[in-house]
Amino acid sequence: MRAHPAGPLHGDGLPQPSLPPPPDPTAMARVDAQIWPATARRDPEGRLVLGGLPVTDLVARHGTPVLLLDEADFRARAAAFQSAYTDATVPGTVSYAGKAFLSGTTVRWLAEEGLGLDVCTGGELALATAAGFPAERITLHGNNKSDAELQAALAVGVGRFVVDALDEVTRLATLAAAAGVVADVLVRVTTGVEAHTHEFIATAHEDQKFGLSLTSGAAREAVLAVVARPELRLLGIHSHIGSQIFSTAGFEVAAHRVVGFIAELAARDGVVVEELNLGGGMGIAYLPGDDPVAPVAMADALRMIVAGECQRRALPVPRIGVEPGRAIVGPSMVTAYEVGTVKPVEYRTGAWRTYVSVDGGMSDNIRTALYDAEYTVALANRVSGAPAMLSRIVGKHCESGDVVVRDAWLPSDLARGDLLAVAATGAYCRAMASNYNLLTRPPVVSVRAGVERVVLRRETQADLFALDPALADVPAASHA
Ligand SMILES: *Cc1c(COP(=O)(O)O)cnc(C)c1O
Repeated sequence: MRAHPAGPLHGDGLPQPSLPPPPDPTAMARVDAQIWPATARRDPEGRLVLGGLPVTDLVARHGTPVLLLDEADFRARAAAFQSAYTDATVPGTVSYAGKAFLSGTTVRWLAEEGLGLDVCTGGELALATAAGFPAERITLHGNNKSDAELQAALAVGVGRFVVDALDEVTRLATLAAAAGVVADVLVRVTTGVEAHTHEFIATAHEDQKFGLSLTSGAAREAVLAVVARPELRLLGIHSHIGSQIFSTAGFEVAAHRVVGFIAELAARDGVVVEELNLGGGMGIAYLPGDDPVAPVAMADALRMIVAGECQRRALPVPRIGVEPGRAIVGPSMVTAYEVGTVKPVEYRTGAWRTYVSVDGGMSDNIRTALYDAEYTVALANRVSGAPAMLSRIVGKHCESGDVVVRDAWLPSDLARGDLLAVAATGAYCRAMASNYNLLTRPPVVSVRAGVERVVLRRETQADLFALDPALADVPAASHA
């Protein structure tokens, strides 16, 4: 039986066993609270509403593509992490991983919510300080920090340096001495644990650029080098095991190994470690059924694990630090696109999918092309009673790998001019955006209680031409 190109797929047309059966129209219109921002809902006309504002109205004012940021959702997630780790007998620290998404506005929200901030380049550091983020709550990461970056961080009084190489210890100590300050340091170690979603590998190869190996002795060598320098103060040990993690099992193995290392440092070298930073990587829901661990449950579990490990070895319990990026900003944003070309394609005999082209793509969301990421997408300007059609949301770039959502069910009456919203695009989308094919990078507009605010304006062609001396003199009007 041959499915109609624009219609639902029938028995023999089902593409992959992994794809769920076509949902009914009500299910397609549903706004799953686990996936969409806290204030997302449908209004009586069926339009998607965020922060009290219909996406249709926001798009009318800001164009497409646009990233819409739910301020209440972002702040609630930040506050949930902050209280989960600081309301404890041994208060921990929460540092937002800036690489997930940075802007002056969101950095100020994080400062107000009391969190710390991780940066890993001079650019991220400059943004944080320009936005007025308290320097003592900033942590400088990076596997290749330049002298200039270390100097800038020392000059503003960054609170923590996470050293990632033996020579960095020497360079940081020399620069701290020159600046007349003592720098607080964590040593980043590799534990051989690599975690992703429900799986983790306990004996991951350490053949990667980050951290210092526990097993080879490089980590101990770096700790002893820090302790030997009066310009440096050892605060703790740092371990980051992966991303999009849905269970505590990987953290448990990593904590076991790091606490073993801390015990060795105490026994052999008399070195005291006050802080154990377990990194970021807490997972979020991209698809129905994804079930991330709530911050408070994760915090309780991590504290239990670390306390248990320390008790067994008669060690004082260190402060726990975490660095969530995705779990704070990821679910708080959605990307709205306008539908352009809609093209049914027979991908194998009798089986059809509809390629739905939108006005952005891999330049505003590289995660699907880069990591095979999966997303939930919905018709945003209306609801439809039409049956589901198997769809692939693609961008407008000259690249067949330019896919935003590989498999999705959308109403079969979808047409040019409709609006699509892709959920959970806050992390590693705008932050990784490019100008491929000279697309201008989309704006980020925050919404809260019926009020919108531009967090990042849309890039213009004039912004791009300004970098090109051969074009810089061309009047803006001719390339607006
Ligand atoms: C990327 C990264 C994070 C944040 O990861 P998320 O998956 O966004 O939570 C935290 N710490 C370090 C060291 C990282 O490299």
